Amino acid sequence: MLTEAFFRAIPKLALHDHLLGTISRETFQDLAEKRRATITAEEIAAFYIRGEKPVGVLRAFRALESEVLREPEDFHRITYEYLTAHARQGVVHAEIFWNPTGSCRDATDYARLRSGIIAGFEDARRDLGVSALLIPSIDREASPEAAMAMVEWMIEQPHVQAVGIGIDYNEVKGPPGQFVPAYRLAGRHGLLRTAHAGEFGCPPANIRTAIHEMGVDRLDHAYTAIDDPDLCREIADRNLIVTVVPSNSYYLRTLPRDSWAAEHPIRRMPALGLRIHPNTDDPTMHLVTPARAWGMMHWEFGFGPDALRAFLLNGIDGAFVEEAQKSVWRAEHLAAFDTLLKEHAP
Ligand SMILES: [Zn+2]
Repeated sequence: MLTEAFFRAIPKLALHDHLLGTISRETFQDLAEKRRATITAEEIAAFYIRGEKPVGVLRAFRALESEVLREPEDFHRITYEYLTAHARQGVVHAEIFWNPTGSCRDATDYARLRSGIIAGFEDARRDLGVSALLIPSIDREASPEAAMAMVEWMIEQPHVQAVGIGIDYNEVKGPPGQFVPAYRLAGRHGLLRTAHAGEFGCPPANIRTAIHEMGVDRLDHAYTAIDDPDLCREIADRNLIVTVVPSNSYYLRTLPRDSWAAEHPIRRMPALGLRIHPNTDDPTMHLVTPARAWGMMHWEFGFGPDALRAFLLNGIDGAFVEEAQKSVWRAEHLAAFDTLLKEHAP
């Protein structure tokens, strides 16, 4: 078995993290006190305890959006801390989701809070050499009008590092169809697009909508595609990269504990032609690191060196960066992977 040290050492991209799911307990507590938020220390503590049924997670996210993260400096702090933690895990580039809808009233507000994230990006690049891009993400539990407004803010206040849009929160409560107009608007303005679809056991039809109507450039989760071989073929033919999360709590909750890893959809995805790339999603909340997320692909799902090497390439191909940067990464990251594999081979 390859060890955690190997997975920490290989150069990695992080293409699927939610900024609010990366906050450390200390920082959450500290900022909640500073902003005199109503969320209690007990509620914050519950956010970091990974139970069978996650409790109070939504409440914690909403408190962060509406009353804890109020100033650009708050966003600067959490962004810098996230990138620092990931850089220590061998992450060299991160593309991170942030939901402006719950925190911003208008385009000015959006640009103001975003400036804190961008400042965090700049400081992390200077201090740690890690690069980052922002993917403002539609809150699918809010209205389609709010989604349109978010895209309009991005058009009114463009930024070179706010490259595209995503959509997240609970797919059961917010199926993708109603957000097609917001995605089309984003596409017309040259914004790249990704979408959470096929998470929480939601039907493969949601993944089809993301591809055919929302025009996505990559997919997040998409586990239920395995129930539809034609759809898998289409995703493969379109060369869409799928970000996956081995620690995703839905399957931890719903599959039997003793056969969880054997039955997990991720295990079957590559054989169906899906080009997957492992990620941490909400790393501090789910108590997972990039090295452990990668390690789970090997330890839990049995993927060997060749598959892991392919995942590395998938991430580079799916990144929202220029082709020239991808070429550099392909050469450097594969060389590093091969060298490290020789050193760490059991
Ligand atoms: Zn996610």
